[in-house]
Amino acid sequence: MPNPKRKHTRSRRDKRRSENWKVALPGQAICKNCQAVIRANTICQDCGSYKGKVEKAPKVKTDKSEENQEQK
Ligand SMILES: [Zn+2]
Repeated sequence: MPNPKRKHTRSRRDKRRSENWKVALPGQAICKNCQAVIRANTICQDCGSYKGKVEKAPKVKTDKSEENQEQK
């Protein structure tokens, strides 16, 4: 096996190792209706659309978190 003639610098080694660290989260898609980041192959949680069609009414968000903050 041929060996490398010179030792690579720490800088060069670390640059090489840092090339592939950006890993995209698998299974993510962008909703065609509202451009939100959603799980792939699922109905959008924000607008209830799937593949451009509205399949299901979106969930009505209850502002329980805000109510809890007011009580404190
Ligand atoms: Zn959507």
